[in-house]
Amino acid sequence: MKKKIHIALLPGDGIGKEISIEARKILNWINENTNINIECDEYLVGGASIDKYGLPLTDETLKKIKQSDAIILGAVGGPKWESLAFEKRPERGLLKIRKELDLFANFRPAIVFDSLANSSTLKPEVIKGLDILIIRELTGGIYFGEPRGIKKISENKSKGFNTLVYTSDEIERIAKVAFETAKQRSKKLCSVDKANVLESTELWREIVNKIGKQFPEVELSHMYVDNASMQLVRNPKQFDVIVTTNMFGDILSDCASMLTGSLGMLPSASIGYNTSGEKKAMYEPVHGSAPDIAGKGIANPLAMILSLSMMFKYSFSRNDISELINNIVNSILEKGYRTKDISTDNKKNVSTSDMGDLVLKGLKNEKI
Ligand code: NAD
Repeated sequence: MKKKIHIALLPGDGIGKEISIEARKILNWINENTNINIECDEYLVGGASIDKYGLPLTDETLKKIKQSDAIILGAVGGPKWESLAFEKRPERGLLKIRKELDLFANFRPAIVFDSLANSSTLKPEVIKGLDILIIRELTGGIYFGEPRGIKKISENKSKGFNTLVYTSDEIERIAKVAFETAKQRSKKLCSVDKANVLESTELWREIVNKIGKQFPEVELSHMYVDNASMQLVRNPKQFDVIVTTNMFGDILSDCASMLTGSLGMLPSASIGYNTSGEKKAMYEPVHGSAPDIAGKGIANPLAMILSLSMMFKYSFSRNDISELINNIVNSILEKGYRTKDISTDNKKNVSTSDMGDLVLKGLKNEKI
């Protein structure tokens, strides 16, 4: 008997649409060749939804995706919608999904495939074998804190302001996820804050220490964010799991992405739990909609395909499928195939759809 799963696919904008076509190919193969019956429905989000409905995310779409077992998203945004009021922009649709589904834990692995060690701007010996995981708090902190806004304070003076706020509950739940994850990896956790100048992160450090007492087997360290950004570039292999706030995680994970050579290689998972303890999750590449290359057929679909791999691991406990995808990606790279963003010599450059087809060939166990 096939297990039925319902996936909501949200291609979004720009290259989001192109890489979603490649994700579909993989999902179709898994549907046809494993004991999983995948029902995959597509919905509009971001600029595409604004163009059709005037909103970056409609209530109807939100309702539908809440009913799915997992969500996979391409990317949203682009210059076409940049002049809209802030609350009407494509990115608000994404933030709304994260908030509404309470997807508070964002997993961002940065793994260097051996064959890509030369694609990074860092020396190969600094990054070869790198496999770190940044866990970013996703639904609190300065991106959501109130009050926020831009106010006129006199005739020719305005002020812009945001609020960095964390409650102890918000810190506790992300700290628990981080310790649990570190326990299953190398039992090393580094918590990144700015406790020397920001009270909200002083509380962060206090609560992380408190939760740490429940995980004596995990070695906990703390680092200020400025030092962490420097250490990530100087000696990234000193880290295993990093846990940090929403904004610090946003910045540090983009920095970590360049260790791996390209944003086009980085998947992510955003996970939360509803009131009955059921897991809710959205999977998406770390990169954006890349308007500079959209429509050219050169986007790297591997971050999207590796996001699918994370989905099978974290949402459906199918480590076999997840590992199969990872191994195929590894062997494609070993054989020298590259999209433009990760190519150093332009020898075996392939298009977005060629790269998707290569993964499909690997799944079919055909010669790549
Ligand atoms: P971006 O990630 O879209 O692009 C940054 C650079 O990386 C560009 O040069 C782009 O060509 C390249 N790049 C990104 N993904 C790639 C891929 N898969 N293959 C090859 N090259 C790739 O960031 P940006 O330019 O700052 O933002 C563009 C738009 O995307 C903005 O509207 C922004 O708000 C939005 N954005 C969306 C998300 C999301 O949907 N999760 C995340 C970040 C940015």
